[in-house]
Amino acid sequence: MNFLENWIRDTRVQTALRIGFAVLITVVLSQFRLDVLEFNSYDLRAQWTPKPQPSGHVVLVRVDAESVKTLGREPEARDWSALFHSLRASRPLAVVSFTNPMEIPGSHQEKEALAQSTQGLPFLFGANDLPQTGQAEMARLPAPFEAWSVQPAPKALDRSVLARDGSARRMILDYEDRLTLPAKLASAFNNKTSAPQYAGTFRLLDSVQAFIRFRAKGAFTSYSFHDVMIGAFSPEDLKNKIVLIGSDTQVSSADYVTTPLSKEMLALSSLELQANTIDTLILNQSPRMTPDWLRLLITLAICFMTMEIVLKVRPGRGLLMLGGFVISYAVLSLAVFAAFNWVLPFAHPLVVVFICYYFLIPYRLIIENRKSWEYYQKNQLLTQVEELKSNFMRMMSHDLKTPLARIQGMAELIQKEESALNETQKKAVASISQSSEELTEFIGSILSLSRIESKEVKLHLQSRDINELVRQVTRKYDFMSKRKHIEVVTELEPLFSVKLDEDLIRQVLSNLLENAIKYSTEGAKVLISTEEADGQIVIQVADQGRGIAVDELPHVFERFYRGRDSRSDGTGSGLGLYLAKYFVELHNGTLEAESELGKGSTFTIRLPMDLNLEHKPFERGGPHA
Ligand code: ADP
Repeated sequence: MNFLENWIRDTRVQTALRIGFAVLITVVLSQFRLDVLEFNSYDLRAQWTPKPQPSGHVVLVRVDAESVKTLGREPEARDWSALFHSLRASRPLAVVSFTNPMEIPGSHQEKEALAQSTQGLPFLFGANDLPQTGQAEMARLPAPFEAWSVQPAPKALDRSVLARDGSARRMILDYEDRLTLPAKLASAFNNKTSAPQYAGTFRLLDSVQAFIRFRAKGAFTSYSFHDVMIGAFSPEDLKNKIVLIGSDTQVSSADYVTTPLSKEMLALSSLELQANTIDTLILNQSPRMTPDWLRLLITLAICFMTMEIVLKVRPGRGLLMLGGFVISYAVLSLAVFAAFNWVLPFAHPLVVVFICYYFLIPYRLIIENRKSWEYYQKNQLLTQVEELKSNFMRMMSHDLKTPLARIQGMAELIQKEESALNETQKKAVASISQSSEELTEFIGSILSLSRIESKEVKLHLQSRDINELVRQVTRKYDFMSKRKHIEVVTELEPLFSVKLDEDLIRQVLSNLLENAIKYSTEGAKVLISTEEADGQIVIQVADQGRGIAVDELPHVFERFYRGRDSRSDGTGSGLGLYLAKYFVELHNGTLEAESELGKGSTFTIRLPMDLNLEHKPFERGGPHA
């Protein structure tokens, strides 16, 4: 169990697990076709990017409402004959009619005349059909139109594929290895004689297909049937053009299709759809889909990135980052479509973001719960330790201090009756007295420390003369210095009284002087000086003692730190300088040490003359080391 936990905690194992998970999700997701989402997002790209301009080679002749109105009826066979006669003069490259001649009203003679009227024209009839499987040619039209060249120009509507909304998005370029009408016409302008030579083609069953790049509605030059019929156009305008003729009367929805650009009832006439198809091929502008392997890679990368964000970034920020990413990716897809005609996959990357997010959020919650449980337990332990410590401190102050005071009192009492004691007893009592004094001091330091740590230290400011404090402290250590034959010299400049906490500063001075005497050899000198400089009171305690090594100097103000040479002697707690620095800093002052090994040390206190404690961070955990 432990082995498994350690194994899972290994960061390399975690990365491998994440990659494995990402691959799994991506592969499983790729098995689902998300065409509806993909092609709806494709439509948005087609709508929100600039539409390409037509090539100018395709021209429309529309049987429009205007023509019907002017004629007073649907165009009849003789009108169509007149139209074809009229077109002949302008020498178009091709004339393609999409209107079934069998449905054109007219007498038998008129229809025969119509069948003849296309002679001499590069005329084709575009059928919304494909040849029967296995048949090389399209079925001929019945008499009298059997001579007309029938070409396959089917509308490919997405009823059961892609977005399944019945819209026209695709074209068929090739069916059973024969080019359809649009591909044949386009090859007149470019040298592409087979369907796969065009950009963006793909195979679907027995056909080669591609996507249509739609121009804005009405972008093609168009003429009304009636105008062309009566010759009200300049023949030059149609010279070498592909002329497409068809219905646009807005009467039958069968003549119209919906497209990526519009889903309205009569969004685009089938005639204009054919124009878009041919023109896309002429300019070789079919949008290119991303190949499956690349889609898989992009999805995998996005999946992995989502996992990293969900697992490593704070939830709020992670959500923002993911939102930002999805928006940026959408903008990138638009830009890539507009600039390179390339359709980045959108559905799979988007879905993978959601899946990763919803899969991993509960996992993250579990991990965080476990962590906070661990923190809670640790905290519990720390609280217990803290409680034990303060109980211990309380015991120190009450249960130790009282008997100690009694011992000290008794020792002093005995010392007063010194005459009754022999030399050994006198020494023993003096030792009891000194040891209990040291112990009292130690307990005092420990109590100060505990007060600092529980942030209980408060300053009691009073106006005091620093020089007077120095004199008192020097006097206190008179006995100690004399015993070591150390001369304590004072150089005290007259100073104004300043506001300070007398007890704390006295403790600081005592500690510095005591250290100076303690760490000096017999007969050395200690100098205490005071002066005023730059608006500060500067107090220095300099000795000629053993000094402090360079590597130890930065540590002497640390809690419980004792120098290498001091650790062996029993006197001292390693708290003195820590407390001194803390107390000085409580006064907004500084305490610094300079020292040279073997030559001596100088401790410098700087206290502000004008103590302003308004911004004072009273409640500090300890001095700045
Ligand atoms: P203590 O004196 O109880 O060990 P302090 O916090 O007062 O603790 O001092 C920490 C250490 O700094 C001492 O153990 C000693 O090594 C060094 N030190 C302090 N003052 C002096 C000094 N005047 N000369 C040399 N070493 C000193």
